[in-house]
Amino acid sequence: MGHCRLCMNETDLSMSHIVPKMFYDYIKSNSLTGGMRMTITPNRRVEDGLKLRFLCKECEKTFNEFETYFANKFYYPFTNDSHAVIESDDDKLRYFILSMAWRCLQYDFEFDKEMLEDFTDNEIIILRNTLNQWRIWLLNKDFNSIKEVTSYMIPTLGISMPSYTSDRMAGHDFKIWDVGGKKETFDYAVVYVRVPFFIFLTVVWGSRKTMGKYRVGRKIRSGAGDISKELRFIIEAHQKNFLVSKEKISEKQIQSIMEKVARRIIG
Ligand SMILES: [Zn+2]
Repeated sequence: MGHCRLCMNETDLSMSHIVPKMFYDYIKSNSLTGGMRMTITPNRRVEDGLKLRFLCKECEKTFNEFETYFANKFYYPFTNDSHAVIESDDDKLRYFILSMAWRCLQYDFEFDKEMLEDFTDNEIIILRNTLNQWRIWLLNKDFNSIKEVTSYMIPTLGISMPSYTSDRMAGHDFKIWDVGGKKETFDYAVVYVRVPFFIFLTVVWGSRKTMGKYRVGRKIRSGAGDISKELRFIIEAHQKNFLVSKEKISEKQIQSIMEKVARRIIG
């Protein structure tokens, strides 16, 4: 038993992946061909993906429906034809991207205490409110509101990036960007999700000027020239963070945090 993060019902929870399982399956099925090579040896958990009891069966089923839609309409066609133009003005695509961003940020909010210690009280209040807002929109399938969230879908084929952004990895990161080392400038905050062939960015606050061609809602092309300095900077910072910190949290640590949380609820 536990409370479902999406519908808040107290019920049996199923094991949910934070970054969808389909991407880890893709990495596994393609590792046999030797087509893609890792420059950094992944540990087992990276291969299997981060998962925990997070959602009830109903909510898990809802997310799975959007995931299947994304897989069939966008992901598999793209991995077979990397020159495809992505017609991204699609409510179900937006839902899928937000469902991933929400899961990642909700996970960080509950379990990444080290990251939260870095944030101010005001930032944490806004993050909590945003998470709750996103939760309600996802739960109600409120496509009109979901459309207001800015997200980017960046095909990684055809753009040159450092080797540590290999296409054989999946994971997530969250970071608050401030101006000039001050806190609470609310310059930029974005949920970063890396999967084979794509980077998804979902904006929590702020904006960036030079990323328009990857904005969800437009026709997105792969290999559409080099990425802007601004975007490269964002990717590199997140990717480093994602490799050095996120993947250090072991299954055991998550288990012990969850037990503590359970004790606090019961006791
Ligand atoms: Zn639920």
